[in-house]
Amino acid sequence: MSSRPANSTMHRGAIAIHQVNKVYSNGTVALQDMNLSIGEGEFISLVGPSGCGKSTALRLIAGLGQMSAGTIMLGDGQEKPELAFVFQEAALMPWANVVENVRLPLKLAGVAKLKSRATVQDAINLVGLTGFEHSYPRELSGGMKMRVSIARALVTEPNIMLMDEPFGALDEMTRSKLNSDLLNLWQQKHWTVVFVTHNIYEAVYLSNRVIVMAPRPGRVVADITVDAPYPRRSDFRTSRICNEYCREVSARLTEAVTGFSGETAGVP
Ligand code: ADP
Repeated sequence: MSSRPANSTMHRGAIAIHQVNKVYSNGTVALQDMNLSIGEGEFISLVGPSGCGKSTALRLIAGLGQMSAGTIMLGDGQEKPELAFVFQEAALMPWANVVENVRLPLKLAGVAKLKSRATVQDAINLVGLTGFEHSYPRELSGGMKMRVSIARALVTEPNIMLMDEPFGALDEMTRSKLNSDLLNLWQQKHWTVVFVTHNIYEAVYLSNRVIVMAPRPGRVVADITVDAPYPRRSDFRTSRICNEYCREVSARLTEAVTGFSGETAGVP
């Protein structure tokens, strides 16, 4: 996993969620006593039925919205880590080409165009969009738009990448390719990733830990370590071990939704 050198930035990607409650103004208890410690460089997925507070948790980590109680500490508590957020909707500017869309965060930060050129091109290359620099969003497929959205996050050089069902609207083949490419990027960039998904296979394939959440009130009910080495090649998807973890996550999800034990036979 991460081979970041031991220095003062060592824990910039860590996230500590302690006894967090979130009650919306209409009285909905979105999260109750949520506790979760995420280490620097981990790839964590949050899975759970709709309404169990996954997006709320992600938004609170990003500092979007107020907690009703509890604390969220990012990094080592000293230097603030850089955060990037990727949503299911690529949310690109339709009137701007790929370069301009990717450059947006740097433009907003006041970085001159000339100075940002190499960073933007690097990000475009890293997400596999070399040659599409001057294309407009309407000329791109759903998967390519998502790649632009990831490149836009990349240029900010984040320590923590928050991803809210980024591939949920894509077909299976495209999702699968983006999953592999995302893992490669994660290994190169040493991000800490918190990834929300409904897809159990995606969660197991990507993550070193899968966090299962239950609704009403939203809370963590299982924390499953996926003990399989990286890099994970595509044959990991069809491996016995991957299948067993998927069954375990599925059983924990069934329990979370119904309150009854799911089928766990054969699960290590
Ligand atoms: P998930 O991402 O797991 O689907 P959310 O975090 O979106 O869950 O929502 C958790 C709960 O909080 C749900 O019951 C949802 O209806 C409610 N909720 C989310 N956002 C708001 C809001 N802005 N105002 C009131 N209730 C909200």
